[in-house]
Amino acid sequence: MFILLMGPPGAGKGTQAAKLVENFKIPHISTGDMFRAAVKEGTELGKQAKACMDAGQLVPDSITIGIVKERLAKDDCQKGFILDGFPRTIAQAEALDRTLTELTIKLDRVVNITAPGSELVGRMTGRRICRSCGATYHVAFNAPKASGVCDKCSGELYQRDDDKEETVVNRLTVYQTQTQPLIEYYQDKGLYTEINGLQPIDDVLKDIIASLRGGQV
Ligand SMILES: [Zn+2]
Repeated sequence: MFILLMGPPGAGKGTQAAKLVENFKIPHISTGDMFRAAVKEGTELGKQAKACMDAGQLVPDSITIGIVKERLAKDDCQKGFILDGFPRTIAQAEALDRTLTELTIKLDRVVNITAPGSELVGRMTGRRICRSCGATYHVAFNAPKASGVCDKCSGELYQRDDDKEETVVNRLTVYQTQTQPLIEYYQDKGLYTEINGLQPIDDVLKDIIASLRGGQV
């Protein structure tokens, strides 16, 4: 199964990626991990990417695409993969198409796990973290027994700056703006499926698997 996984922050993409790995025994390839691995292995592209990052610059597309290509050419990807966090632009999507053609790989489906913005904001702003032990809670889904106090160590719970409403709304807006052209790109290719991320975790997974088998949910 060759899957491209998309989804706004807070929609449960990470959880579903882990479930898909288990189900299909294929690697989960996220851009962040790929970069870290290339830098650690010290590949030529990894060195170039590191130089950009150290200089506080964006890594240019040519390097990003090169790293993706190196990764997808590895043995463990020949039966399938879950690609996550790439492509982010149409230029990258076109480069990915060329790479996959070279590797004689055909994408099975582009799955977008999504939810209304208001719901995502609620999920993301509800996160609380323990100052002492780092345990994470959620005011709605995984609330501590006493408000603001860690169940495990009685430490103080706080909200990360990243989880504050203004930041979250901003991130979502950037994400939606960036993603819309890609949605249209894959819709035109007949590869795109939207999955309702508001359902229970196992139902989301069922829908994803159904879309991979039959095309549509
Ligand atoms: Zn704690």
